[in-house]
Amino acid sequence: MLQLIGSFKGFFRHTCNLLYPPLCFHCEGSLEGENQIFCATCLLQFTPIQKMERCPFCFSADFNPMQEKCCASCVADPLPLKAVAAVFDYLGPAASLVRHLKYGGQDHLASGCGAYLAYQHAELGWPIPDLIVPMPMPRLRKLERGYNQSLLLANALARFLDRPVVELLHRKSTGFSQAGLTVGQRKELNHADFALEKGASHFDKSILLIDDVMTTGSSLRCSAEALAPLYPTAIHGLTLCRAI
Ligand SMILES: [Zn+2]
Ligand SMILES: [Zn+2]
Repeated sequence: MLQLIGSFKGFFRHTCNLLYPPLCFHCEGSLEGENQIFCATCLLQFTPIQKMERCPFCFSADFNPMQEKCCASCVADPLPLKAVAAVFDYLGPAASLVRHLKYGGQDHLASGCGAYLAYQHAELGWPIPDLIVPMPMPRLRKLERGYNQSLLLANALARFLDRPVVELLHRKSTGFSQAGLTVGQRKELNHADFALEKGASHFDKSILLIDDVMTTGSSLRCSAEALAPLYPTAIHGLTLCRAI
């Protein structure tokens, strides 16, 4: 029976591909292989950001490594984390990948991102954390989407780092997406939004926070502040993309 279902699925996919040939997620050009989601040209654009080009604390590109130890923003208002970084800038095919992951219901895309996150984590030279903590999502939005993409990314990275993923934080529902809000509006919302899960008690552990996109950094900032009562030994934040 299972074999029959499998062969039917194969036939169905083959027929769909004949009627609607799969297109690249970004440029919508035709794809050569059945299991590809990006064309060869777009795949070449998945180049992780070089850490030498960015502020070592917030990963801002507005930084001159020859003249400064960190960017002006980190001097004025340092993050309450050891450092944050991203794999890609939120541009081109990487941005398309995140949009399909977040808004297209394509949760399977997260598993392929684990290797990129692990690669960048190694390039950054950060210590292996004791715990991997995903950015929480308001419950209503998780119900609506069906999954928290940050948790899926954390699980994908955990397979490479062999460390547990622990949902230490929860996020109150604001009832709407933060996309399109100003920096000030995001900061005001976030401070009241993040809280420790009841019973969270992981003292003296190092934590790696994982999120899909860092926009202003305020979600990572507020998460780190919410984790402070656990006295973590260090908190780093790694995201798949960084808005520019
Ligand atoms: Zn393409
Ligand atoms: Zn900085």
